Amino acid sequence: MLVVEGLRKTFENHEVLKGVHLTVRKGEVVVIIGPSGSGKTTLLRCLNVLEIPDEGTLTIDDEQLQFTTKPSKKEMIRFRRLTGMVFQAYNLFPHMTALENVMEGPITVKRLKKHEAKEKAEQLLMKVGLKDQMHMYPFQLSGGQQQRVGIARALAMEPKVLLFDEPTSALDPELVGEVLKVMKDLANEGMTMVVVTHEMRFAREVADEVIFFDEGMMIERGHPEQLFTNPTHERTRQFLQRIQ
Ligand code: ATP
Repeated sequence: MLVVEGLRKTFENHEVLKGVHLTVRKGEVVVIIGPSGSGKTTLLRCLNVLEIPDEGTLTIDDEQLQFTTKPSKKEMIRFRRLTGMVFQAYNLFPHMTALENVMEGPITVKRLKKHEAKEKAEQLLMKVGLKDQMHMYPFQLSGGQQQRVGIARALAMEPKVLLFDEPTSALDPELVGEVLKVMKDLANEGMTMVVVTHEMRFAREVADEVIFFDEGMMIERGHPEQLFTNPTHERTRQFLQRIQ
């Protein structure tokens, strides 16, 4: 279970996260929607401790990180391993094959032996449908294939929670489906996921809960059917009207 309490983040004078509270139960898929610039990416980056929040507490199962006093680098790195991040721009190492990209984290961070990491990476790449592309470099892969490598790479670290930051928004429309299919399979297998996306169909079909985020705050949350058809807040209503 992921619990976020009172998370705040300010860049210079701009308060981007204004005290975020969020609970994601084990096996739950939570989709975050909201206008551009509302702080969704910053929230995910804080959950992955790529950004250091100014205030607040993160808890994943029995591990906790409090930001009232700045945690040590060691504590932050330890906590970062509990979550895996899938980025909008894939962020693969360009000089490594798909297989090497997936093996890298387990070898350098988890200290797995090379043959163990290789076996695991092969399994994961098969799982995301890239059996025949394992030895290809990112530039030889389509965007959809690169993103599936990105997902396999995040899974290789065995995170407790998988975070997706607009994983399909850089893709050509015909490649979106193959990535969403992998995400849907993971959700069905019980992976705990927090997904920032504009894919409303995915949200409707897969999310246990949808959160509408605006101006650094969670405005409302609900079951997708309820939030999409009968939002409580005027701001949610206006946003949904704009995008539908
Ligand atoms: P989008 O949907 O466009 O990706 P978002 O909801 O994910 O938007 P963020 O990317 O989190 O929003 O950005 C929220 C605000 O924080 C923006 O105004 C952005 O310019 C600002 N911001 C984000 N990162 C930084 C940074 N490192 N330094 C300064 N300002 C930042």
